Order: sequence, then C-alpha cells, then structure tokens
Amino acid sequence: MTKIIKCSFCKGTGKDPFALLSVLSDCLVCEGTGQVEIAEPAVVCVFCSGTGKNPLGARVACIVCGGKGMNYAKNNVKCIQCMGTGKSTDGLPCTRCGGKGLI
Ligand SMILES: [Zn+2]
Ligand SMILES: [Zn+2]
Ligand SMILES: [Zn+2]
Repeated sequence: MTKIIKCSFCKGTGKDPFALLSVLSDCLVCEGTGQVEIAEPAVVCVFCSGTGKNPLGARVACIVCGGKGMNYAKNNVKCIQCMGTGKSTDGLPCTRCGGKGLI
C-alpha cells in the first residue's frame, strides 16, 4: 500500500531548497512535483526528524529516508542498538536499523 505525501525536502514547493544549481532548480527528491509516494505503514524519519534533509550538515537529502521525511516501518519495533534514535555514536545512521530507529 502506498500513499502520496507532501515532499519534506522542499516542503511541497517542488523547488530545490538549497538552490544548488539555480533557484529555479527542481527538487531532486520529488522531481518538482512537490509530492512523493511512500510505502505504508510509514513513520516519521527519526534520523532527520522528518525534515528530509541530511542532519550531518551536507546540503543534500537525508540518506535514510531519501528526503521524503518518512520511512516504511513494517514492524514498529524500536531498535535496541540506537534506542530508536537512528543514530550511532559517531552520528552516522545506526548500522542495525539503517537509521530508521525501528527494526
Ligand atoms: Zn520535493
Ligand atoms: Zn530522513
Ligand atoms: Zn538502530
């Protein structure tokens, strides 16, 4: 099952939020549509807090959710390695859950 949601990376504007190439560049995540399709059931991406942006500082999409701000969560079980934060001690995505915070 899938659902259409507003693109988190560009906040639904369809434009590249960082305007890397040009202020008129299309958002790379939704390809300019302002909407993305996600698989259900989905939960807010803990790695980027649902912003869709890479929390490590680079001006790119979140490496865990791909910029959508949501992750597919079949089994809503908290990852014991990162305690559901999705981050390992060095700030990179948890190796056990891949940054989703869920297994
Ligand atoms: Zn977008
Ligand atoms: Zn994310
Ligand atoms: Zn984890």
